[in-house]
Amino acid sequence: MRTPLVLAVTLMLNSASFSQNTDSLTRARHTRDSLNDIEAHKTEYYSPVPPVVTPGSYFYSTAPSDAIVLFDGSNLDQWVSTSDSSKKAAWLVKDSAFTVNKKAGDIQTRAKFTDFQLHIEYRIPPDITGSGQARGNSGIFLAALPWGPGGYELQVLDNYKNSTYVNGQVGSMYKQAVPLVNACRKPGEWQTYDVVWTAPKFNDHGILASPARVTVFHNGVLVQNNTTLLGDTPYIGQPAYRVHGAAPIKLQSHGDPSEPISYRNIWLRELK
Ligand code: MG
Repeated sequence: MRTPLVLAVTLMLNSASFSQNTDSLTRARHTRDSLNDIEAHKTEYYSPVPPVVTPGSYFYSTAPSDAIVLFDGSNLDQWVSTSDSSKKAAWLVKDSAFTVNKKAGDIQTRAKFTDFQLHIEYRIPPDITGSGQARGNSGIFLAALPWGPGGYELQVLDNYKNSTYVNGQVGSMYKQAVPLVNACRKPGEWQTYDVVWTAPKFNDHGILASPARVTVFHNGVLVQNNTTLLGDTPYIGQPAYRVHGAAPIKLQSHGDPSEPISYRNIWLRELK
């Protein structure tokens, strides 16, 4: 039987050789990962994991009479390029839907909005590849802002049997509010988001008077229940508010190499 001292020496020797190996592994990893990635990991959480809920049948096929139709299946006239709002949105319209054009970058609505109810549908391609955040990543920025992370992102991602940090999965307000459940449909199926967005308000001195609030139904299932936001949704660092008024809604062209996703049937009711 080994004495505690022998055990301790054995462990130290083993751990010395182990730590040499892990040191070189760590160096290799740090070389591979950018410093940005390391910083980003500090705000990523993996538990508790929202339970999976299989959604029921739930679609709106047409917009209510008082809605502003942002996409009816025919054209992207209501959308412009985010990088140059004088240019039309250059995403591909086909079969009453449109598909992200990763080369063209993000697109956003021509009009600006404050408080609203939004309906939007998206589809992850049936042959989607990749894992984690690199699998059907897009996003709906409920108020697009020309600074920082670009506003407040409601995440779009394929989390059907694909895990990632829970505050970055579909239904999350990115890196800020974990969804109550995972109500994903399978890739290839159309999915719905219904959102009630209350924009942050600022007083005349530029002080936050009331924070943003958001309620989200994913495929008819509640995933954000009047959630109060602490600010925008950065990849790195903490949320922050900066004064803004009415803003466009933006759709994200994410840089990951997975197949681009599609959107359709987008309408909005302004809340006054
Ligand atoms: Mg995204």
